[in-house]
Amino acid sequence: MRMSEGRREAGIRAKDEMKIDSRSIELCVRCGTCRSVCPAFEVLGWESRNTRGRIMVAKALREGLAPDTNVLDSLNTCTTCGICTAKCPAGANPPMIVQSARKGLVSQGIMTEAQAGFREKVNESGNTFGELGDRLGWLSDPGAIKEKADSVYFVGCLDSYRYPEVAAKTFEILRRFGVALLPDEQCCGSPLIRTGSDAGELIDKNLRQIRDMGVKTVITGCAGCLSALKKDYPPEFDVVSVPEFLADRLPELKLKRLDITVTYHDPCHLGRHGGIYDPPREVIRAICDLVEMKANRENARCCGGGGGVRAGYPDLSLDIARRRLQDVPDGVDAIVSCCPLCIRNLRDAGAGIEVIDLIDLVARAIDPA
Ligand code: SF4
Ligand code: SF4
Repeated sequence: MRMSEGRREAGIRAKDEMKIDSRSIELCVRCGTCRSVCPAFEVLGWESRNTRGRIMVAKALREGLAPDTNVLDSLNTCTTCGICTAKCPAGANPPMIVQSARKGLVSQGIMTEAQAGFREKVNESGNTFGELGDRLGWLSDPGAIKEKADSVYFVGCLDSYRYPEVAAKTFEILRRFGVALLPDEQCCGSPLIRTGSDAGELIDKNLRQIRDMGVKTVITGCAGCLSALKKDYPPEFDVVSVPEFLADRLPELKLKRLDITVTYHDPCHLGRHGGIYDPPREVIRAICDLVEMKANRENARCCGGGGGVRAGYPDLSLDIARRRLQDVPDGVDAIVSCCPLCIRNLRDAGAGIEVIDLIDLVARAIDPA
């Protein structure tokens, strides 16, 4: 646990700076419905590691509880998957409570070592990996950078630096429809926002380019970027996911059928947080057979990667992913998803079959331009 010097000397109690909406906490009637769906609780099994317990922790912080490592672990083991919000009969929004409690603590310099390290890395490099190399290193044609464009592809840190082949395939298809790139894209800010830190500087840098280029639509293939661009940026432009973009253009894409059967993993930030369930399924069904996972759409279980859990609690993160893999139906050739973080976590958990991006499937089925 990290605590700033000034704060230690002043002995300020957490309640002085906690800005959690008490009404949203009071909505929770402690029924425990969320206990049965919280993926972190399923692994850890303690009350303070489930949704209801986290709300009680946030309430106690507001009332003056001095934060300790247990408090930080309670709040930071939430993946922000949102299945508790979907199931809560009282209309509570637990991940928002968790996020604002994290923010209240971080604003006082109280955070885990993982949170602090992650924040420093993103702020220094503009990406979640601390990479200093060219973010557009995957781009073979620098002529694709335009001064003005109606729409741009927002690549995200993961595809830029870890899955450059996915970035290249996505752009190859999107540019057929006149989509351009930002010249100096930065991390969207989602990893900082979800873990309680300020992302204002990153947002400003991206926003300045979006405004200068006159962009009206931002398209992204990352569910985390999608949530951030939609909810944490000013509403000056439309935000569209890659599966929505592709589903709207199926006739032009002229996809051929592949003789395979796949299943689909709904990323939490695309599905529950974004309400985008049908477009990826429409694209998949245009190419091959789809068999649903045991828990799907609004009931889909989390991959364990989000909310800073992969970085802060890697064992928990992979344990959640392994449980998600138990939902894969027998006899499928691949798991398809639309978020590089989900894909990475499911692969790392030992899926046993291919885990691919929707764009990989489309690239196999599309005629070369
Ligand atoms: S968050 Fe909702 S589901 Fe969970 S205990 Fe509170 S009221 Fe029940
Ligand atoms: S958002 Fe997901 S991980 Fe967080 S408390 Fe709710 S169910 Fe648990």
